Amino acid sequence: MLYQSTRSNHTVNSLEAILQGIAPDGGLYLPKDLASLSLPPQQMADKSFEEMAAIILQTLFDEFTPSEMAEMVHRAYGGKFETDDVTPTVKVGKDYVLELFRGPTSAFKDVALSMLPVLITEAKKKLGITEKIMILTATSGDTGKAALEGFHDVEGTGIIVFYPNGGVSAVQKAQMVTQEGSNVTVCAIDGNFDDAQTGVKNTFAACAARDLKKHGVMLSSANSINIGRLAPQIVYYYKSYCDLVAAEEIRMGDPVNFVVPTGNFGDILAGYFAKCLGLPIGKLVCASNRNDVLTEFLNTGRYDRRRTFYRTNSPSMDILVSSNLERMLYLASGGDFQKVAAYMKALNEEGQYVVDEDLLQSLKQTFSAGCCSEDETLATIGKTYETYGYLCDTHTAVAVNVAEQFKAADPDGAIIILSTASPYKFPVSVLSALGETPDADEFKVMEQLNQRTDVPVPAGLAGLKERAVLHTDVIGKDSILDYVLKKVEV
Ligand SMILES: *Cc1c(COP(=O)(O)O)cnc(C)c1O
Repeated sequence: MLYQSTRSNHTVNSLEAILQGIAPDGGLYLPKDLASLSLPPQQMADKSFEEMAAIILQTLFDEFTPSEMAEMVHRAYGGKFETDDVTPTVKVGKDYVLELFRGPTSAFKDVALSMLPVLITEAKKKLGITEKIMILTATSGDTGKAALEGFHDVEGTGIIVFYPNGGVSAVQKAQMVTQEGSNVTVCAIDGNFDDAQTGVKNTFAACAARDLKKHGVMLSSANSINIGRLAPQIVYYYKSYCDLVAAEEIRMGDPVNFVVPTGNFGDILAGYFAKCLGLPIGKLVCASNRNDVLTEFLNTGRYDRRRTFYRTNSPSMDILVSSNLERMLYLASGGDFQKVAAYMKALNEEGQYVVDEDLLQSLKQTFSAGCCSEDETLATIGKTYETYGYLCDTHTAVAVNVAEQFKAADPDGAIIILSTASPYKFPVSVLSALGETPDADEFKVMEQLNQRTDVPVPAGLAGLKERAVLHTDVIGKDSILDYVLKKVEV
């Protein structure tokens, strides 16, 4: 299968797309023939998560044979998640919650980042590449740890994670700075997530012009700009749908709506891929926090990043430049890469762009959008716990709140809310939402939350406090390139 950049007609095969992460022209790779692929859910009924993953990933990355992909998927997921079905769907009131946080780092990023290292190492083997692959990652909190967990001590790879200093929760920080492994680096930057992401993207561009190969190194990305990171996220949309069919909650063929807590637009874009492949999706509802740039965009067609950046209680969604929207613009404009390149140039240089009416209408057929404030997020956690006994984290709560707004329009079909993190990743907010006073020590708050609710603390988060801090670097937001070159050119 060929993959094309969103900004030119540059194409590569799927193995190269996975290894490069981002196209040399700064665009993002998309499968060239997405529209011609078809995976009806009937074909997936009664399959396990791993079986579904193997079928979907082999369809998109067909340089791998079905038996190779089945083995790779098992290596990625076998025994790593709390539940064998990897991503369970539970009923909460009249709606459903798709729990994506049952992996080793308690955030949904685990689903994709368990698979990505396997895809990268096997793609490298198939292409006969001998250079070390250096993974550069910008994180708003959750990608970093999930990527470290996936890549630590993986032969032939190294990983550098940049996170915003002061922009992640104490639990998230502790997860990253205690990471062991001979090939890992974790560094704070004085700036926010967008600064980290821009610094990493600029580093890719600057390094494309340098000959890193003479140092035996190739750069790649674990962010959702990498198609190898997005593709595994398609699987749980199918899994959840088929689970509801199996439980006789819906009938095969019924439309369902997914409400997705959104930051970089990766998770929700994977839902759009599922729809393109034939999953009966009514609406994909984009849920944002106070950083409501996507709500405004999907309602008006104007994307304007020139606005105040808020640090909220759902920090993994504190993003003003949602990278994967670029892919959606490409798909919704029928592959008009010149148009996409022009929008991205305007965003870069003027801080905004306005899409034309046809494109906006085409987006509105699939997407709906809403946002909520921090207070509403907390109130939603409290109400959901009181009414249904279901404890959700702040990101999930944003989606639950936006799902309520969406229901006011009386949509057809069941509503599935994607739950992207364990409540124990954001214990201070979650405990205060239940009306309790959190201790100053975030780790004690985990115990308080456990006592208040009896919801078990995930294994990966218990005991975090006792682990030694191994990473203390802090750099300016403009020093990312220098920092990377120092690590690479040794
Ligand atoms: C990353 C993340 C999101 C946002 O997902 P995108 O793919 O960036 O839109 C939402 N919730 C949590 C907990 C996350 O870690």
